[in-house]
Amino acid sequence: MRLLIRVLLVFFVISALLSIVRGLFTPSTAKRREARSTPALGGKLIKDPVCGTYVAESTALQSGENYFCSEDCRQKFIAG
Ligand SMILES: [Zn+2]
Repeated sequence: MRLLIRVLLVFFVISALLSIVRGLFTPSTAKRREARSTPALGGKLIKDPVCGTYVAESTALQSGENYFCSEDCRQKFIAG
């Protein structure tokens, strides 16, 4: 019986250590996500697929999933 208790104890210690190791890695990934979602100068910048200019999401012209710096670029994109 004592051996069984020791085995169980070792198992719990290992699982506890694993959860601590996981806990050490989880905050770093959470920080990365936070850094990514942090808006740069109050607006997310999106690349205009036509001219390559980076435009703020709030001021860009949208067409589906794409954002454009001007109506001219949007028309060029639609025209292909
Ligand atoms: Zn453009």
